[in-house]
Amino acid sequence: MVKLEPIIGLEIHLELSTKSKLFCHCPNDAHPVKPNTNICPICLGHPGVLPVINQEAIKRTLKLGLSLNGKISEYCWFDRKNYFYPDLPKGYQISQYSLPIINNGFLEIEVEKINKKISLTRIHLEEDTAKLLHSDKDWSLIDFNRSGIPLLEVVTDPDIRTPLEAKIFLQELQKVARYLDISKANMEKGQMRCDVNISLRPVKNKLTKKFYPKTEIKNLNSFKSVEDSLIYEIKRQTKKWQNGQPPQRQTTRGWDENNHLTYEQRSKEEEQDYRYFPEPDLPMLRFKSKKSKFELPFDIKEIEQSLPELPIAKRKRFLKNYGLTLPEAKILTENQVLADFTEKVIMEVQAWLVSLETIEGTEQEIWQKHKNQLIKVIANWLINRLLPLQKRAAKSDFPFTPENFAEFIILVYEKKVSSTLAQSILEKMFSEGKDVDRIIEDHQLTPEQDKDKIGKIVFEVIKSNPEIVEKYQQGKHVVIQFLIGQVMKKTQGQSDPGLVRKLLEKELKI
Ligand SMILES: [Zn+2]
Repeated sequence: MVKLEPIIGLEIHLELSTKSKLFCHCPNDAHPVKPNTNICPICLGHPGVLPVINQEAIKRTLKLGLSLNGKISEYCWFDRKNYFYPDLPKGYQISQYSLPIINNGFLEIEVEKINKKISLTRIHLEEDTAKLLHSDKDWSLIDFNRSGIPLLEVVTDPDIRTPLEAKIFLQELQKVARYLDISKANMEKGQMRCDVNISLRPVKNKLTKKFYPKTEIKNLNSFKSVEDSLIYEIKRQTKKWQNGQPPQRQTTRGWDENNHLTYEQRSKEEEQDYRYFPEPDLPMLRFKSKKSKFELPFDIKEIEQSLPELPIAKRKRFLKNYGLTLPEAKILTENQVLADFTEKVIMEVQAWLVSLETIEGTEQEIWQKHKNQLIKVIANWLINRLLPLQKRAAKSDFPFTPENFAEFIILVYEKKVSSTLAQSILEKMFSEGKDVDRIIEDHQLTPEQDKDKIGKIVFEVIKSNPEIVEKYQQGKHVVIQFLIGQVMKKTQGQSDPGLVRKLLEKELKI
């Protein structure tokens, strides 16, 4: 049987989070309290109105393009894409066809520890359509709040080979959009939507670059549905190949989430069906042409210099510079706020360390000596303690500064408090937004009190295990491990085992 490989390409729509829509002053909010409130004659497509380009939308397109190593067109324009559908009152969508703002580029992804560059074909800017709400009776409603919202279309080359790669590409693109602060890119809210193209090809034809008729699966609105629909489609098409009937024509299919299958929708229109032609109501965009006297309202070089480090680059740097593990680095670079917070905490802790009067050596030597242990403490308390608190409170930022958290980490690192007490301090810091000292003072969470608490548990454990205590006192000192285990169990593993041992030994001597 012939060995096949999937050839996958993606088309992603990203809603830009500008203040206003692409060609009018209406607020860019697809979901205000009521339908049809963020509308005006322009985004309703009334005759005789003139669109005006939102400069911020162009700027954001350039930001994404430059971040993804794309080439800015010297000049380009908007085109009318003509088709008849109730969500499009003008009878055409203002989009870009022959020349997009950005050509080429790539996004690097990491799939099962292997880095791969996925090439991009283009990134263009267009307006979103209205939203149709179909009833199960014989009528539908139209909400124009979404009409005219700026949409970026990112088209990849057919470089993707597995459903997992497709999912990871989308997750990485979402992170990039959020790092750049150009889109909220929330798939559940329709701010990021995806169409996938898939065909199969005999592996032996790899070098010929020959492709077979593809199937397009439209309007996928979760990472899971992208992955699942591709898995299904690969199985479906493989069967066709095995039966000697590979797909003969290009088709469009939908994804039925409930029944977990794709179904045929219609044969894809040929591109000329849209009768594209340049939009006569908008000026040509000139980005680089020397001949033009057209002044851009912003500086491309400035945009380039202001671009943040991309998530994957940050992840690599976190791994290399701080010795975090890959899963830790992935979590801590999940978004810009968390990554910045983490880095500031590390810097603060490092500064504290080298400021200590010490005979241990140079600053570098001191840092190297403590680095591994300190990073472990920081990563552990951030990922396993602080992030769950943040998640529970459904917040995206922190109620205290990285300096406050660094002070807390130092307290833990110096073992001035037990794990239990530290957890309690952190919870209060989080709910009250105060620094460590204030929390300890306000709640009298002193280490002594902590000692008392563990002391009581130690006493209880000794009391309820007379046989073990006897063995210990007869010289079988190894049994203390059992008692330590009992105390740890009673404190849900939150106590400092060193402190528990000390307290037990003190009690058992008497
Ligand atoms: Zn409007």
